[in-house]
Formats: sequence, C-alpha cells, structure tokens
Amino acid sequence: MARVYNFSAGPATIPQAVLERAREEMLDWNGSGMSVMEMSHRGKEYMSIAAQAEADLRELMAIPDNYKVLFLQGGASSQFAMVPMNLLRGKNKADYIYTGAWSKKAIAEAKRYCDVNVAASTEASNFMTTPTQSELNLDKDAAYMHFTPNETIAGVEFPYLPETGDVPIVADMSSTILSRPIDVSKYGVIYAGAQKNIGPAGLTVVIVRDDLIGNSIDGTPAMFDYKTHADNDSMYNTPATYGWYLAGLVFDWLKSNGGISAMAEINERKAAALYSAIDGSGFYNNPVEEKSRSWMNVTFTLADSELDSVFLAEAKENGLVTLKGHRSVGGMRASIYNAMPEEGVNSLISFMAEFEKRHG
Ligand SMILES: *Cc1c(COP(=O)(O)O)cnc(C)c1O
Repeated sequence: MARVYNFSAGPATIPQAVLERAREEMLDWNGSGMSVMEMSHRGKEYMSIAAQAEADLRELMAIPDNYKVLFLQGGASSQFAMVPMNLLRGKNKADYIYTGAWSKKAIAEAKRYCDVNVAASTEASNFMTTPTQSELNLDKDAAYMHFTPNETIAGVEFPYLPETGDVPIVADMSSTILSRPIDVSKYGVIYAGAQKNIGPAGLTVVIVRDDLIGNSIDGTPAMFDYKTHADNDSMYNTPATYGWYLAGLVFDWLKSNGGISAMAEINERKAAALYSAIDGSGFYNNPVEEKSRSWMNVTFTLADSELDSVFLAEAKENGLVTLKGHRSVGGMRASIYNAMPEEGVNSLISFMAEFEKRHG
C-alpha cells in the first residue's frame, strides 16, 4: 500500500494516525460491539464521543463559555443563508468584504435577505490582495460584518482581523480554522465546512456567541435556526455522527501534537518553504501580494502553461496528487492543511526544482 501526498483543497487529506485509529475502532468501538456509524446518536456511547469532541475543540481554540459550538450539516454554503437569517435581528443591512469566489457566494445569498454593503472589494487586483483596515467602508449600523479570512481558490488570506467596533464579525473559516491560534472572543460567528482542516465532508462546525442566538427572521425553518441546534446540543435531528466522531479524532490528534500553536509553527514553515521555492525560481510564479499569501492554499503557475499537464502527470508518478488549480484560476494549487506533513511539502519542493531543471 502506498499513500500519496494529496494536495486537494477539499475534501482534503486526513492525518494518517486518525485514519488508522478509525480503522482500529471500525468494527467495535471501545467494546460496544459496533461501529460508531451504527450507534444511536442518543445512546450513552455516542453522546460521550460527541461531548468529548466538543470539549477538545473548546480546549484547542480556547472557546469562551458564552459561545455555543454547533455540529451541523449543509456545508459552509448553508451558513451563507443561516447567517443573515439568524443575525439580522430586526436590521436590514449587513457589511460584506468581497475578496474572491467564496465571499462572492456569501454575498449573493445574503442579498436574498438584506441590503448588502460591500465594505471593500479587491476585484481591481483580480482578488490577489486583501483590503487594509483603512480601506474598509464599514457601516456602524450593519447587523454584522462578514468576511472570508482565507479564500481557498486563489490562496489569499487576511493578515489581520478587521476592527468593526460593536458590529459582530462573522468569519467563513472553512479553509483556515485550526491553522493558527485566534481570539474567538473577537468574533460573533465562526463557521467552517469540515472537509478542509477538520475531517470528512458532511459536517459543518459553527461557533456562535450566545447573544446572537434566538432572533431568527420570520419563516426561518427550524433546521436553519441556530436556536434549534443550540437548545438540542446539535441533536435536534440525526447529526453527521461519523463525521463528528472523526472530527473528534482529529482534535485529539491536534492535542497530542502540541495543539494549535505547535501546528501554526509548522504551517508557517511549510508555507514559507513553498513560497520561497516559487519566488526563488525563474519558472514558477505566485501572483498574490506577499502579505496576503495563504498558509493553507498555495497557488502557482508554470512559465509555460503548455507544461501544466506534464507537470501534473509527472507529479502523480512521484506520489504528489491533486495539484491542479481551480478551473477559474488555472495553474497549480497545493493545499497544505494541518494534515499535510512537512515531508509532503518538501517532497513537492524537490519535485518542482527537478521539473524546472528538465523543462525550465
Ligand atoms: C470549501 C469552502 C466553502 C464551501 O463549503 P461547502 O461545505 O462545500 O458548502 C465555503 N467557503 C470556503 C472559504 C471554502 O473553502
């Protein structure tokens, strides 16, 4: 058996130790005589798995007590609607920062519910930058301010947290959650589809401040109301039980590897090594402004795009897969989330150098 280094943006690679543990526990979880995916979500055993996962995530991210952690379904894309449905609270406008493909989708969905003030757009730079604080045209009466800390497709990441005064900050952290320590108390809502940096697809983690729960707009379906899930410990309906369990194994793996600050050091090193290899070559190019380069999704083009398919084929022969960039951007994208080991990045860097020697 040969595991490859999988640079997919999502669903993404999962730590091998987690997969091995899931395999060990597959047929008989902890003497229960059954797999986790066969358990009642209301049984004692599953409830303990769910509670442990939440406790570990709270510890890892130092989530304050006045925040609920919800384990939902529907992906980050459902949050594009749930955020306005729950957070408008009698207001009819919200601020959005437009930095690329994912914030574009969030904005389109929000427009179904309220007036969207685009507080800043980086379209003029072809979304290769992030706006500075002074470039933000914030509305102090906005119900909330939404932004995308890491735009997964172009590989653009905010180097700072915008300041919004009393307006709650909502962050789509799908591709950057758990990559480095953050101060959760500065946010109103943090949400993330699990399939990038948490676990398998099908689970969505939402961290929401208590005072933002319980004021959904008229007509909000029960399943789209944060209160429904907060009041029922995310078990109003059958949750994504196996995904929640696997997320718990990932949290446990993070804890045993020194937590998020240890992970952040490794992530910073991995990204720095890859960007420096790109910048140091005359063959590869990353167009993102330096301060806004993502730690998680590193995009690059080859000097001659005719070589793209050769690059991908040869990379695959070397056990380096899913490097093709998003169709809207082209070129390559290496997603290097927590679960991508440093050796995987180093192996990619060596391959790139060797490819350049032969084709550059
Ligand atoms: C992947 C991604 C999404 C979409 O997530 P789904 O779970 O597929 O709905 C949204 N936002 C960002 C930043 C993403 O990376």
